Amino acid sequence: MQSSERLSFMPVSLQDMQERGIQQLDFVFISGDAYVDHSSFAAAILGRFLESKGFTVGVIPQPDWKDCQSFTVLGKPKYAFWVSAGAMDSMVSNYTANNKPRSSDVYAHGGVAGKRPDRALITYTAKIKEAYKGIPVIIGGIEASLRRFAHYDYWSNTVRRSILLDSKADLLIYGMGEHPIAEIAQGFREGKSITQLRGIRGTCWRTGKKEDIPAGATDGQGKFQPTIFLPSFKEVSANTPEGKKSFAHSYIMQEKNTDAMSAHILVEQSEERFVVQEPPAFPLTTEEFDAVMELPFTRRWHPMYDVPAENGKIGVPGLSEVKFSLVNNRGCFGACSFCAITFHQGKRIQCRSHDSLIKEATILTGDKEFKGYIHD
Ligand code: SF4
Repeated sequence: MQSSERLSFMPVSLQDMQERGIQQLDFVFISGDAYVDHSSFAAAILGRFLESKGFTVGVIPQPDWKDCQSFTVLGKPKYAFWVSAGAMDSMVSNYTANNKPRSSDVYAHGGVAGKRPDRALITYTAKIKEAYKGIPVIIGGIEASLRRFAHYDYWSNTVRRSILLDSKADLLIYGMGEHPIAEIAQGFREGKSITQLRGIRGTCWRTGKKEDIPAGATDGQGKFQPTIFLPSFKEVSANTPEGKKSFAHSYIMQEKNTDAMSAHILVEQSEERFVVQEPPAFPLTTEEFDAVMELPFTRRWHPMYDVPAENGKIGVPGLSEVKFSLVNNRGCFGACSFCAITFHQGKRIQCRSHDSLIKEATILTGDKEFKGYIHD
């Protein structure tokens, strides 16, 4: 493996850090996916995004969750760990709809299954806290987003409480992360503690004190919107007709507050604690979206995957699906009940400029594997 090739990726080892002259990283990403430096992979997007703002960032992809040392290979970061289960919820990734273990994982080295734990955010956060007592852990990605409040969990056939409480993470980012991650990182740079990083759009935080909960927030049109208390976890998890009605009512309130321009702060009580959801992050402007997609991605998997995995295959199969496609937009107003897009990316459609798309398409045509078409 050429050291010069590795230098174009974010560090994944102490040696990588030394070669870049980094003593201590500002942030470390833990991801349930293999490390692919492409704009369809969150650790790559958000890591590159933070680098563009002058932060140093390392990646620990698919750590061995049974071994605490796997979480310390880059040392203790100066500010915090960002933790994601990966591009998919870990239970969706690990099990079929019939609750059978999947035989492969397209986001792992060689497509080998079993490289990420069930309920990855809970497991990863516990291991980090075991390794580094007191370090802030911030969870995000689709698993955090869709489990931010009490939610129905298909695999256990129960209503589970917020993953922020179950994981004991310090902060949760929901939706697409650029705006909140930039604000949180800047807050750390200014010397703020994790509890001073409340009030950031696109985040959820927890508290045991009702007096911490703000009375409301100013929406995207300058109007004060009072805080809304959702039905409590006890109400929505009751296995009664009233419980099911409360669950439906809570979900409707959450869905009605997915637009950054009009959303309220939402609060859900769970026993003696409260999960507070700040209004969604404002959508990226076209210029911001272009800038994110034009970050210096190598557009390939990390060279550590150029050797055969246990099954003899090289690489990360999930890359082939996106390598020759373009991300044109985010968000959807549809809010179809079976789809996560509105709940994760918001109601407003955000688009890139034609110039930015043409620039990326031109890069694709220069790849020696390009076959002459850009697919969906
Ligand atoms: S399925 Fe999803 S992306 Fe399609 S219209 Fe419905 S909410 Fe939008």
